[in-house]
Amino acid sequence: MLTVAYDPNNIFAKILRGEAPCFQVYEDEMTFAFMDVMPQAEGHTLVIPKYPAEDLLDLDPEYAAAMAKTVKKIAAAVKKAFDAPGILVAQLNGAPAGQTVFHIHTHIIPRSQGIDLKLHARQMADFDELKKHAERIKAAMN
Ligand code: AMP
Repeated sequence: MLTVAYDPNNIFAKILRGEAPCFQVYEDEMTFAFMDVMPQAEGHTLVIPKYPAEDLLDLDPEYAAAMAKTVKKIAAAVKKAFDAPGILVAQLNGAPAGQTVFHIHTHIIPRSQGIDLKLHARQMADFDELKKHAERIKAAMN
């Protein structure tokens, strides 16, 4: 079977190495969280494990557990920071599932009834806004 190797130059790997900028929200030994630059709603946050895997199927189970733990923590903070009635948690595996960045990540997106999600990975947000949103989420964790 032909397998495609993890590309260490994908954008999230660069963010983890500090080679590309991001609006960081949280970091621990095994995971990292930051604002999605093309958010589908205000407060759209991504959680990634510090492990070179394209998707959930390639991810070490210990890191999968660490990612789930961080997702729960960040989802609570995003809900509080954006006063969101609902929180969408999503994780896409493989291009046919809609994955566009090939370092595994989980989306955390605030949801309110009657407000549609913006299109996936389409429109760049204002960086000053993203910075403020990251600060709001960090404050909600304390
Ligand atoms: P997916 O389609 O599930 O692979 O999602 C990739 C997500 O990464 C999309 O929601 C993009 O908006 C987001 N994204 C792409 N490049 C960056 C970046 N440099 N910093 C933050 N988010 C990004």
